[in-house]
Amino acid sequence: MSNITFTMIKPDAVANGYTGKIIDQILEAGFTIQAMKYVRLSEETAGAFYDIHRERSFFKELVDFMTSGTIVAAVLVKDNAVADFRTLIGATDPAKAEPGTVRNRFAKSIEANAIHGSDSDANAAHEASFFFSAFERF
Ligand code: ATP
Ligand code: MG
Repeated sequence: MSNITFTMIKPDAVANGYTGKIIDQILEAGFTIQAMKYVRLSEETAGAFYDIHRERSFFKELVDFMTSGTIVAAVLVKDNAVADFRTLIGATDPAKAEPGTVRNRFAKSIEANAIHGSDSDANAAHEASFFFSAFERF
């Protein structure tokens, strides 16, 4: 089991001023930050990141949304990081997210759902190195 996960605070949450509150909740849950930066995704980089969803009906909306504003990308460290972070952020659809989860607190819709969390150790490693070089990880 790896102990890292990758996250993005999505454009809706950054634009709404929730970045600080979300980082605070992540730290309170016991994660430490190995790397963090502001990023503006291009159509190409957002499309590459969500390549597995390329054939889905919502792919264009997803790319349009993820390129609509600044995001905060980060690599987080904790035992059982991937599963614990998915629990912390809650269900994809905020209407179904448990009370107190990041998406329950800060997300408005299934598309503008405030935050991303890796869904496996392999994807966490891949996503972290997609966004950060070794010189940016501490
Ligand atoms: P993420 O990968 O962003 O952490 P997730 O793993 O909970 O979210 P995925 O199934 O990987 O969910 O979908 C990726 C993103 O695509 C979701 O976060 C959401 O913004 C969007 N999405 C997923 N399903 C739908 C849908 N039915 N309609 C619109 N957008 C959707
Ligand atoms: Mg996913």
